[in-house]
Amino acid sequence: MMLITCPHCGPRALDEFVFDRPVEAITAPDADTQTLVAQLYKRTNARGPSRELWRHSLGCRSWMTLVRDTATHQICDVEPVGGAR
Ligand SMILES: [Zn+2]
Repeated sequence: MMLITCPHCGPRALDEFVFDRPVEAITAPDADTQTLVAQLYKRTNARGPSRELWRHSLGCRSWMTLVRDTATHQICDVEPVGGAR
């Protein structure tokens, strides 16, 4: 079973978490249409480390960024959004 270590709750099953998007796809509220299209639909989907936004939706409901290797799915780092652990 794959586990993700929530910065607040500790190791929990993957099923408790929801993937939101790669950090590179977070858009500015005032971004123009071309920028939005590029950020949402023209990403590189590169093989290797990907910094992503996730939420512990069935736990503490907090947001976190984690670094996941897209080839192996190994999680290299997890940190809460907006603050230290
Ligand atoms: Zn949690």
